[in-house]
Amino acid sequence: MAVYVQKFGGTSVGSVERILAVAKRIANSVAAGNQVVAVVSAMSGETNRLSALGAELSAAPAAREMDVLLSSGEQVTSALLSMALTDLGIKARSYLGSQIKITTDSSHQKARIEHIDPENLLSDLNNGFVPVVAGFQGVNSDGDITTLGRGGSDTTAVAIAVALQAEECQIFTDVDGVYTADPRMVKDARLLETITFEEMLELASLGSKVLSQRSVEFAGKYATPLRVLSSFSNEFPGTLITNEETSMEKPVVSGITYSRDEAKLTLLGVPDIPGVAAKILGPIGRENIEVDMIVQNVGADGMTDFTFTVKREAYDHALNVLEKIKGELGASMVIGDKTIVKVSVVGVGMRSHAGVATIMFDALAEESINILMISTSEIKISIVIAERYMELAVRSIHKAFGLSDKAVSEA
Ligand code: ADP
Ligand code: ASP
Ligand code: MG
Repeated sequence: MAVYVQKFGGTSVGSVERILAVAKRIANSVAAGNQVVAVVSAMSGETNRLSALGAELSAAPAAREMDVLLSSGEQVTSALLSMALTDLGIKARSYLGSQIKITTDSSHQKARIEHIDPENLLSDLNNGFVPVVAGFQGVNSDGDITTLGRGGSDTTAVAIAVALQAEECQIFTDVDGVYTADPRMVKDARLLETITFEEMLELASLGSKVLSQRSVEFAGKYATPLRVLSSFSNEFPGTLITNEETSMEKPVVSGITYSRDEAKLTLLGVPDIPGVAAKILGPIGRENIEVDMIVQNVGADGMTDFTFTVKREAYDHALNVLEKIKGELGASMVIGDKTIVKVSVVGVGMRSHAGVATIMFDALAEESINILMISTSEIKISIVIAERYMELAVRSIHKAFGLSDKAVSEA
C-alpha cells in the first residue's frame, strides 16, 4: 500500500467545519486504498494569538516557555482531527512531536529536525490507524519542546515523508497550488503544474510562504515527491515540485515573489581603504545579525558609502552596532530605512537567457519605481524598492514576463 503524508495548514483546519471536511478528505484517501499520515497546523490565527499573549505578558519571554506556548496550537488540532476521523469510522490517533520522537537541536523557535523514529507511525499504519501528527514541533535532547519556525508544519510533513519513504508528501493549503506570483496579490497569476526544487527553494527563501524553505530543502535532498494542493477543492491536481530533468522546457521566469521583512542601513562617508567592509560586517556578524544584500559605492575623495540589508526585526539592533563603531571607522553618519521591500524573479531558464534583468528594470522604469539595490544569482534577480511600490512592482513585472493566466490561454 502506498503511504501518503497529508499536511493541512491553518486555514484548512480553521474551524470545526473545516476539520470535518479534512477528515472526509482523509477518509476518501483511505477508502481508495492508501495509508495516510496526517500532519496539522494550528487553527488559522492561533500561532499569532499565542505569540501576542507571550509578548503581552513579558518583554523578553524565555525561549523555552515560548515553545511550550506556541506548540499548543498544533496539539489542539491534532486531537480534534483525530476525533473527527474516529467519528467517521476511521481509526486514528493523535501524536505530539515528542511522542514520535521528532528530535531537534535546541534552537528554540527555529529548531532543526535531527531525527525521526518512524516506529510508532509504522506500527499504526500497519494496524490500520491514521496517525495525526501535530506539526511545527519537536523535542530536544533535554526533553524540552522546540518549534521549527513559522510555517514549520510543512517541514514536519516532509521530514515524516522522508522517514517513511512516502509515495508523496501532499501540502494541502488555501490556494490551488504554487502560482507564478502570490494569487492574492496578482489576480491573473497562473497555476504551475510543476516547478523545480531549485526554483521553489529560491521562491521560499525570498519570501513566498506557500512552502517553508526547510521543507523544500529536505524534499529536494531526499528526492521526496512534494505536491501543493487545495484542501478546499478537487478541481486541480496542484503543483508538483520536481527535478529539472523531468519537467518540460522551462520558461525564463517561473515565479515572482516579495518580502516585506527587510530593512537597510548605510554608513555614510567611510574611508575607502582595504578592510573597511570587514570592520563593519564583523561586529554585525558577532551579534548574530544576518546580512543579505551589500552595496559599496565607488569612492570619491577617498570616501565611500556602505549599505546593507537585514531582516526588519534586526534593524534596531544593527543600528545600535553601527552607532557604536561609527567613530572608530571615521564614518560621518549612519542612516537607515525600515520601509523597504525585496522583489525577486526566479527561473532556471535564466541560465540560458540574457536580458532578463532588462525586462524587469524596464517594467519598473515604466512605473517610475526607483531601484535602491540589486542582487543577482544564476537563477534569480532581486531588487530592493520602497515598500509603497511593492504591489505595483510585482504586478508590472509579472505582466512584463507574460506570466498571466490570460497571456497563456490567448497564446
Ligand atoms: P498554510 O496555512 O496552509 O500553511 P500559508 O499561508 O502558509 O498556508 O501559505 C499559503 C499562502 O501562500 C497562500 O494563501 C498565498 O497567499 C501565499 N503565496 C505566496 N506566494 C505564493 C505562490 N507563488 N503561489 C501560491 N501561494 C502563494
Ligand atoms: N502554526 C505555525 C505557524 O503559523 C506552523 C505552521 O502553520 O506551519 O507558523
Ligand atoms: Mg504555511
